Amino acid sequence: MNSKSYDACPECDLLIDYVQPKIGEKIHCPRCDLLLSKPRKKSIERTFALSIAGFILFFPANFLPMVGITLLGKANTGILMSGVISLFNENMWPVAIVVFLASILFPLAHICLSLLISGHLFFNHPNRYLIRWMRWIKHLDEWVMLEVYMLSIIVACVKLMSIAPLKFGWGLYAFIGLIIITTLLTSSLDKQLFWQRIEQLGKDSKHAS
Ligand SMILES: [Zn+2]
Repeated sequence: MNSKSYDACPECDLLIDYVQPKIGEKIHCPRCDLLLSKPRKKSIERTFALSIAGFILFFPANFLPMVGITLLGKANTGILMSGVISLFNENMWPVAIVVFLASILFPLAHICLSLLISGHLFFNHPNRYLIRWMRWIKHLDEWVMLEVYMLSIIVACVKLMSIAPLKFGWGLYAFIGLIIITTLLTSSLDKQLFWQRIEQLGKDSKHAS
């Protein structure tokens, strides 16, 4: 298992060769101290389980009411999408698009890709798209910003609370769960291990055919 790896540090481009660390060990860049590799226990199984949980939670988080407010005897509820729609109606459509992408579309794509990749590796099922999916997920990592959206929800809630009492709905709890799961998902996916397994699956399927 102690295979040698050559890698350029993504931060400072220093070319480093190092022995594949064991679980619990960490490899840092000698020049800029960036964490390069940190193998995780049962990364494939954990990523697979977390992405299933994330996929299930995505729907209540997006379609169940997050907050309820009663103003002048009229009850209103808000779901995640209604924030996007009201931004759109206020003619703030560039913001609406960013919020839609960063808080709805990209998180969903991220969860689906994690599910696809870890599912294929979990069942040892080769697929010629695995490499492409891994590249996509790398770009998505930079774009999933549920935490930022959460912050704006909190600010909006605090403002509304001064007008009328708020009732928190299941959508909000599901959304908080979704943030926790997405964060765990990003840290459980051991990219080096995934790339190794994908390479191995590719070789195995070539031998088989
Ligand atoms: Zn470096």
